[in-house]
Amino acid sequence: MIPPPWQARLQQSAEARLALGRDRGIHPAAGVDVCSNDYLGLRRDPRLAEAAARAAREHGAGAGAARLLRGTCGLHDELEAVLAQWKGAEACLLFNTGYQANATLIPALVGRGDAVFSDALNHASLVDGCRLARANGAQVGIYRHLDLEDLAAQLAAWRAEAPASALALVATDAVFSMDGDTADLPALLALCERHGALLLIDEAHATGLLGAGGAGLAQLQGVHGRVPLVMGTLGKALGSFGAFVCCAALLRDHLLNTARGFIFSTALPPPVLGAALEGIRLARNEPWRRERALTLADRLRSALGQACQPSAIVPVPVGADVAALRLAQALQVRGFDVRAVRPPTVPEGSARLRITTGAHLADGEVVALTDALLDLLQR
Ligand SMILES: *Cc1c(COP(=O)(O)O)cnc(C)c1O
Repeated sequence: MIPPPWQARLQQSAEARLALGRDRGIHPAAGVDVCSNDYLGLRRDPRLAEAAARAAREHGAGAGAARLLRGTCGLHDELEAVLAQWKGAEACLLFNTGYQANATLIPALVGRGDAVFSDALNHASLVDGCRLARANGAQVGIYRHLDLEDLAAQLAAWRAEAPASALALVATDAVFSMDGDTADLPALLALCERHGALLLIDEAHATGLLGAGGAGLAQLQGVHGRVPLVMGTLGKALGSFGAFVCCAALLRDHLLNTARGFIFSTALPPPVLGAALEGIRLARNEPWRRERALTLADRLRSALGQACQPSAIVPVPVGADVAALRLAQALQVRGFDVRAVRPPTVPEGSARLRITTGAHLADGEVVALTDALLDLLQR
């Protein structure tokens, strides 16, 4: 039998990946969790499990249809109302995943003649949203990471050429997912207001974790309720699954009518909604969880000689893919579930460990991890 041509093609790319130390596989959880995004330790909280079970009993295991058909139950409306209130927004629209939200809300807002400007280190879902907008005829500008002068120059150059009715969107991670650094939202907001641009922030790693009420980076930086488009996820700190966009009612109505990832996808199932509502309640009522996650991260950062940051993500830069893999494996042998992050998730030559802290970690576990890490880095 002659093997079909796709086999040779896929075999070749698998070998190329292996040679680069860049092959990916799915490895089960083992050891102390210092790599998930369960920052508040809520994922396994029995109160979330009970809320999910109650929602399933009352509303069913699945939604049965997209939101615009018969897929909406009272829990969708309740969760949107709670999120809008928490984030200080007029309205909120749920999406099934953060990936779907970002990838489809950008092309729903900007098209031919418009422009979207995106931080160079934004999450892949924002990148794909920009690609779809470009396919619809929008101009895409990538500005240097956190460089607002570069962004201002690109905005001004575009505006000088664009028709008055053209729309500009600026998209940024609030807390960057692989470095744990943060955007300067007040400065971004001022810049966007000056250029009449819409600002979209992705609070996937900030929701539940930052700000006096846990609402996110906008709250921490004093621009709570002022960013026009605040996207966030329910599957990280909040311990459930799904995503949302908080915005004005007019924007929500536009997205509901045009964002294909919202329209053409079965609604979030009731158990996930029940767990998310309980996760938000606990995130707001038990502030010790976020304080603990952030304190542990800063402890680890100072041991590594890094500056304090308002995030629970601690990158350990390595550089070469194989070296990052080896360091991760050595920590795994010592009982810590640490994963190496390699290109294309991070830029070429910047493979690293991505360590995260959560409220579920004991002091002793973080001390042992720090000692093991310092010991291995010295060798
Ligand atoms: C995880 C993540 C997403 C995607 O959210 P999902 O709900 O997991 O699809 C989007 N943006 C950022 C910054 C993320 O870290």
